[in-house]
Amino acid sequence: MIAEPKVKIAFQAENFRRFHDLESQIGNTPLLRLRRVPQELSTGVEIFVKAEHMNPGGSVKDRAALAMILEGERSGRLYPGKVILDATSGNTGIAYAMLGAARGYAVMLCLPRNASEERKRILRIHGAEVIETDPLQGSDGAQTIAREMATRDGTKYFYADQYNNDANWRAHYDGTGREIWEQTERRVTHFVAGLGTCGTFTGVVRRLKESNPTVRAISMEPDSPIHGLEGLKHLPTSRMPGIFDPRLADETVEVATEEAQAMTRRLAREEGLFVGVSSGANVLAALSVARRLPPGSVVVTILCDGGERYFSERFWTE
Ligand code: PMP
Repeated sequence: MIAEPKVKIAFQAENFRRFHDLESQIGNTPLLRLRRVPQELSTGVEIFVKAEHMNPGGSVKDRAALAMILEGERSGRLYPGKVILDATSGNTGIAYAMLGAARGYAVMLCLPRNASEERKRILRIHGAEVIETDPLQGSDGAQTIAREMATRDGTKYFYADQYNNDANWRAHYDGTGREIWEQTERRVTHFVAGLGTCGTFTGVVRRLKESNPTVRAISMEPDSPIHGLEGLKHLPTSRMPGIFDPRLADETVEVATEEAQAMTRRLAREEGLFVGVSSGANVLAALSVARRLPPGSVVVTILCDGGERYFSERFWTE
């Protein structure tokens, strides 16, 4: 009788600590229904967006970065004194930098020089070191440099390697995909998402198809190798991420940068959602899929990051 309250208090204290950690605020993001943008659709077809820009680091990549760090610690590859190293187009880097600061790790990031100024500044504000790589080689070039550094100095770095790390897609299998299934009350019929490392698409689609094999998965890609959809890859001309699974997508939709930018403006003005360009591209692709669907269809896509990250871009005022 006397021992019981002690155990309870210890349990509550542990829970209390966990609840107040920055990391506990990652995931469980809201699922919002678009109300004005899909007005052209026939009644009974709905589009929902997973508001990943509401994660503490401001993007969908908080989930993957946390999962890769925890997996690194669990496997013994990451421990105090190691430097977290990876190639990133920005958002994973911001998540590593935020979590590294909170957990006491130094962070070293390779990213293409043309990544937005806002992103580079956030990285440095968190104390991360940034190596700027050839913009013409995009994220593939950044990956080559990070890999060379990891090979040269393996004892110094924990090379997270998000393009080939299963913890990346697993974060979305355990989190994003499960949440979408629950938040739509099992009604989701279609999932649409752009491909960067492919972590979001791979994890969510595996989870949803496991829950209901009739869920259709639509991947989205920029319509040309040179594009302005920061964070996304034009796969036919890029290095294939190791975690990409070609069997998962039932269909692929291509999106033009200017049209994605126009949709990003509409989301701000018609839905009150100030998000980045890949989110606009996702919604545009979701809308194009939803146009041909019968009543009862529930399309879900991702708002990947917030609009603040793109302040310096000119398309807002066009
Ligand atoms: N949008 C943005 C803005 C991103 O930074 C990323 C990640 N590179 C993605 C979409 C794609 O996410 P994922 O890496 O999970 O494919």
